[in-house]
Amino acid sequence: MSTVLVTGGLGYIGSHIVIELGLAGMDVVILDNLANSAIDVFYRLKSMARKDIEFYQGDVRDSKILNVVLSEQSVSSVIHCAGLKAVGESSLKPVEYYQNNVAGSLVLIDAMREAGIQNLVFSSSATVYGIDAPVPYVETLPTGGTSNPYGTSKWMVEQILKDAANAAPKLSIASLRYFNPIGAHPSGLIGEDPQGIPNNLLPYIAQVAVGKRAELSVFGDDYPTADGTCERDYLHVVDLARGHVKALDWVKNNTGAEAFNLGTGKATSVLEIIQAFEEASGVKIPYSIAPRRPGDLPAFWADATKAEKLLGWNAELGLEEMMADTWRWQSQNPNGYRSNAKEAQPDSSVA
Ligand code: NAD
Ligand code: UDP
Repeated sequence: MSTVLVTGGLGYIGSHIVIELGLAGMDVVILDNLANSAIDVFYRLKSMARKDIEFYQGDVRDSKILNVVLSEQSVSSVIHCAGLKAVGESSLKPVEYYQNNVAGSLVLIDAMREAGIQNLVFSSSATVYGIDAPVPYVETLPTGGTSNPYGTSKWMVEQILKDAANAAPKLSIASLRYFNPIGAHPSGLIGEDPQGIPNNLLPYIAQVAVGKRAELSVFGDDYPTADGTCERDYLHVVDLARGHVKALDWVKNNTGAEAFNLGTGKATSVLEIIQAFEEASGVKIPYSIAPRRPGDLPAFWADATKAEKLLGWNAELGLEEMMADTWRWQSQNPNGYRSNAKEAQPDSSVA
C-alpha cells in the first residue's frame, strides 16, 4: 500500500511531481481528464520514469472513477493538483472554477474517507494571502481577501481541509502554497505547454525566443520596486516537485492540516528575468513597456522558513537553471506536446 495518486498528474506541475516520486521509489497512479494536458505527457513520463506509472483518464468530480482508482491501485496517499488555474478566466467562468477546484476537492476527500486514505497534499497558492498581506508572506498571516474566483477557490479548499482534519483526527493534510513555479525538467522532455496566448511571464518569453511571438509586453514599469517592474518569487518546478516528496513524508508522519509556503525567499523583477533568460539562452528578447495588468501586485515573495524547518525542504536551483531549462524545453519542443512527440529525446548533456 504505497501507491501515490496524483490528480492532474499530466499537467505542468503534476508531471514533474510524478518523476520525483518515481525517483523516491514510489509507485504512482495518475488521474487526469486532459482538460489542460495531452496524452503525450503520459508517454514521455513512462519513457523517463524508473518505476511503472498507471494512468486513468477521468475527472476528480466523478466519484465512480475515483472509487475505481482508489480500490484498484491500493492508494495510500494523494497529491491533489487537478484544477483550473487561469486567474483572468476565473472571473469570466466563476462557477466552472468553483466546480472544478472546490467541488472536485470535496468529491476527492469524500472518496478518500470512504477508502480509508488519510494522507493528502494539496496544490494551493500564494494567492490565498490576499491583496493586502505584508511581505514576505509567512504562514502565520491571516488569509483571504482574495481578488478573483481562482484565488478564492484555493482559499476555500484550504478552509475545508482544515475543518475536515479537525473532524477526523487521523487525517493528515499539507496545503502547499506555491509562489511562481517556472522552468522545466532538465531532460527537455516535459515542461509547461500553455494553450493559446500564454498568460504567464516565462512561457511568453520562451515563445518570443523561438519566434512564435514578436515581443514581450512588460506590464508596468512604474511600480514602487527597484527598477519599477513587478517582483515575484520564481522557483524551479523541479524544486517544487521535490517539495511534494518531502510533504508526503510529513503527512505520513503527522496528523492535522498545515500550510507551507514553497518559494525561494527571493524576489526578482520582470526586467531581471528578461536579462537572466537572455544570458542563459543567448537569445535577445525584444520587449516594450505596456500599461499595468489589472490585479497585479507590485511585489511578493515567500518566507519559506516553515518548509525548511518542518519538511526539511528548501529550493536548491537558481535563476540560471530555471532559465536554461525553460529554454531547453521550449527550443526542443517549439510547439509543446503537439509536435515531434515521438522524436523527442532527452538532452544528452544532462545526467
Ligand atoms: P495544469 O493546468 O498544467 O495542470 C492541471 C492538470 O489537472 C491538467 O493536466 C488538467 O488536465 C487536469 N485537470 C483539471 N481539472 C481536472 C478535473 N476536474 N479532473 C481531473 N483532472 C483535471 O496546471 P499546473 O500549473 O500544473 O497547476 C497544478 C495545480 O497547482 C493547480 O491546482 C494550480 O491551481 C496549482 N498552482 C499552480 C501555479 C502555477 O503557477 N502553475 C501556482 C499556484 C498553484
Ligand atoms: N508579466 C509581464 N508580461 C507578460 C506576463 C507577465 O510583464 O506577458 C509580468 C506580470 O505583470 C507579473 C509578472 O510578470 O508582474 C509575473 O506574472 P505571471 O502571470 O507569470 O505570474 P503571477 O501574476 O501569477 O505572479
